[in-house]
Amino acid sequence: MARYTGPACKLCRREGKKLYLKGERCVSGKCAIERRSSAPGQHGADSKKMREYGMQLREKQTTKRYYGVLEKQFRNYYDEAARKEGMTGENLLILLERRLDNVAYRMGMAECRRDARQLVRHGHFTVNGKKVNIPSFIVKAGDVVAVKESSRSSDKFKGLAEAEGGAIAPKWLDADKKNFTAKVVALPAREDIDFDFNEQLIVELYSK
Ligand code: SF4
Repeated sequence: MARYTGPACKLCRREGKKLYLKGERCVSGKCAIERRSSAPGQHGADSKKMREYGMQLREKQTTKRYYGVLEKQFRNYYDEAARKEGMTGENLLILLERRLDNVAYRMGMAECRRDARQLVRHGHFTVNGKKVNIPSFIVKAGDVVAVKESSRSSDKFKGLAEAEGGAIAPKWLDADKKNFTAKVVALPAREDIDFDFNEQLIVELYSK
């Protein structure tokens, strides 16, 4: 599966906001947005009045980049969200939130979503006791996500389990960092997603 391999901070600067793509660095004074928030490129600092289409496009790009999803896959999520009952924008965010790489990050077993994606791909996680190495795997209520037994003694996971701070597990996940597990106690609701998304703009963009 293709993925973006360019500089993460450039994506935040392009969107003009923190997307938290680099773990600890994102909450330190080294964050590129803290130091220089203008968009990259020669005309990055120009102030442009964003027209409607521009705002919709930026919101889509922000959401895609926040979850580390490429265009085609994002569009597939949107189509699936539109087929479900309820509000398409909310359905879209909830689907993205249920990705296994996001869950690995939210349960505190990765420094950021990018890190989580790599750890999942390398086979360090199980769902209901079975190894799953697909970052886009969608969890459901009742699933138990865990770090594979043989990976728990690695410095990486021991460090994450003992680390103070980091991502705070949302209420739909019963995370037990010390035991490297998290149970999906319910599906996430829109209010559980704490990033300031305006998903309606994405719906407007794709409804044109
Ligand atoms: Fe974005 Fe993190 Fe880089 Fe800051 S440090 S610009 S939040 S990826």
